[in-house]
Amino acid sequence: MNKKTLLTVCALAAFALCAYQTKTLLDKPNDPIYKNIDPTVSPGSDFFLYANGTWLKQNPIPAAYSSWGIGNEVTEEIRDRLKKINEDALKANAPKGTGTQKIGDFYYTGLDSAGIEKAGISPLQEKLNLIDQAKSPQDILNAAAILTTIGARNIIGMRVSQDDKNSSKMMVQLGQTGLGLPNRDYYFKTDARTTRIRTDYNDKYLPTLLTLSGWDEQRALAGAKSSYNIEKFLADSSRKLEDLRDPYRNYNKMTVAGLNHLTPDIDWNILFKMLELKPVDSVIVGQPEYYRAINQALRTFTVDDWKAYLRLKLVGSYAAYLNDAFAEENFRFGGKVLRGQKEQLPRWKRVLDTENGIMGELLGQLFVKEYFPEKSKERYVAEVEAIRQAYREHIQKLDWMSPETKQKALDKLNAVHPKVGYPDQWKDFSALNISRDSYAGNVMNARHWLYLVNINKLGKPVNHQEWNMTPQTYNANYSPSNNEITLPAAQLLIPGIKDEDVDDAMAYGYVAASVIGHEITHGFDDEGRQFDAKGNLKGWWTPQDSVQFTKRAQMLVDQFNGYVVLDSLHVNGKAALGENIADLGGIVLGIDAFKKTQQYKEGKKINGFTPMQRFFLGYALSWLGHERDEALANQILTDVHAPGFLRVNGPFSDVPEFYEAFHIKKGDKMWIDPEKRVSIW
Ligand SMILES: [Zn+2]
Repeated sequence: MNKKTLLTVCALAAFALCAYQTKTLLDKPNDPIYKNIDPTVSPGSDFFLYANGTWLKQNPIPAAYSSWGIGNEVTEEIRDRLKKINEDALKANAPKGTGTQKIGDFYYTGLDSAGIEKAGISPLQEKLNLIDQAKSPQDILNAAAILTTIGARNIIGMRVSQDDKNSSKMMVQLGQTGLGLPNRDYYFKTDARTTRIRTDYNDKYLPTLLTLSGWDEQRALAGAKSSYNIEKFLADSSRKLEDLRDPYRNYNKMTVAGLNHLTPDIDWNILFKMLELKPVDSVIVGQPEYYRAINQALRTFTVDDWKAYLRLKLVGSYAAYLNDAFAEENFRFGGKVLRGQKEQLPRWKRVLDTENGIMGELLGQLFVKEYFPEKSKERYVAEVEAIRQAYREHIQKLDWMSPETKQKALDKLNAVHPKVGYPDQWKDFSALNISRDSYAGNVMNARHWLYLVNINKLGKPVNHQEWNMTPQTYNANYSPSNNEITLPAAQLLIPGIKDEDVDDAMAYGYVAASVIGHEITHGFDDEGRQFDAKGNLKGWWTPQDSVQFTKRAQMLVDQFNGYVVLDSLHVNGKAALGENIADLGGIVLGIDAFKKTQQYKEGKKINGFTPMQRFFLGYALSWLGHERDEALANQILTDVHAPGFLRVNGPFSDVPEFYEAFHIKKGDKMWIDPEKRVSIW
């Protein structure tokens, strides 16, 4: 951009001017914040677009993706590094049973497209026979259980995890599942977009999978119809996205006898044995009405209907690892129709993504050794403590909370356990068997192994060392049962710039606010606040404080309900409430933690921006990206997170420091009247 344009632009957007005049004299040449800004947009009209606009223009969504953003930049960088690790493993010819052998052989079978083509559907044959031989509803249930053990999701949604009300105990949990479309809404919504997806699913996707599995056309069409009818029946008894967020309503502990009573046609003692579980005395059922519906469905639909349903669940779940015809149909519906992708990722990327999902920690050990220095770990451990301290001060100053509840909140905050970068103890992969025989076979072995790792936790003490994400995952989370935050290395490093070159303003926006503050606040969002310091679902709020909290939370629900994303689709403020509370909390905590740094106190501009401006720009960088319409629509219906641009513009409009830093005035689009601005934590 030449200087003349710059001046015209600056005249248009008064604020952007100051920063861009310094273009020729950059303090920091490699500054993602500076490079991404679109000076033609005013920060007061659309801050997200102001902060990220130039990047968005220069980085259209590639054909193989449904969205493209900072997370993809991180992931692409990591994939290249993992590719190298895999290629080395492939050449190493390591002894059987070693991690290197498993990585190398998995990669080998994944890339062996001739072998995959030749094998056709044979890796699934044994399981297909099992379904075909079913003669009774009991046989159907047994086959369903066996499919569950190899990760082919069907009517039984079973996992072992902590008891919400007793976090030191592992329990069998049963939840709603069994649908083929992304969630219940897809079966009932009548808008054009959803109708088109549903029609394709019924008329093309399901019959094609059955035809490819060896059924003739007529049988495939009939089977697709039966299967869809079963799914719609189950969808009708499935809870909506927002209703899954109430921890009390989704906690129904019962004995196995009680469960047998709930579903009189299912003998759970037999079923648990088929699920390879040790004897079980009691379970937690998330959604009892769903299991009642399963019982009803077993009476309503014929054994042949169920055979079609289970066959589709099996081939659908493995289509991506079978021959091209399967993989392409899987992509056509799952990628193109549902998410708007134009082409498939190259095979090596797909294989690495699959491998990462299965043996992530094997790769992760090698990854952090090379790419996550100890110094970075120390930096972000210190940021966790800075956020924790800011939070303490916020709680003490709250004008709507009683001293009693404040003390309990502080106790809980002090007990939050941080996991930063990578695990201290790595998972044991010795029982996982990977060979050069078959790609789908390897995936099946691995899924079964993962399944066993999960169910073997039953009856054992909780392992607090274990990570639920790999270090190379671009994500982070809060676990209410453990009252802990997990912050993988990949989420902490900004792509394209060395961590030591990231100034604190950027790091406090990008990591301390957007990741650390966000995750810690989850412990105090509408859902997390119902768990105590020990991770138990147990009230610790006075009724008046709960009322005060809910009043403030409702303002955030209303604020986000008002944001229209795509034609008539608006954010589901209630479903997204926990995330929006966490975003707003992360930002206000991040601001106050940042105010204590040397950089803030010195107040020196970098590339024309004050430290506080860089903080907000660093935060906006963490949501850099865009999505295709199909993906946006999918996200609104299935995801509790608002789209990225609203995770910036929404909470910023509530924060006084933002108005100050960018001179936002009444009349600007980002402006919200002070009495309507939300303040919770
Ligand atoms: Zn979150």
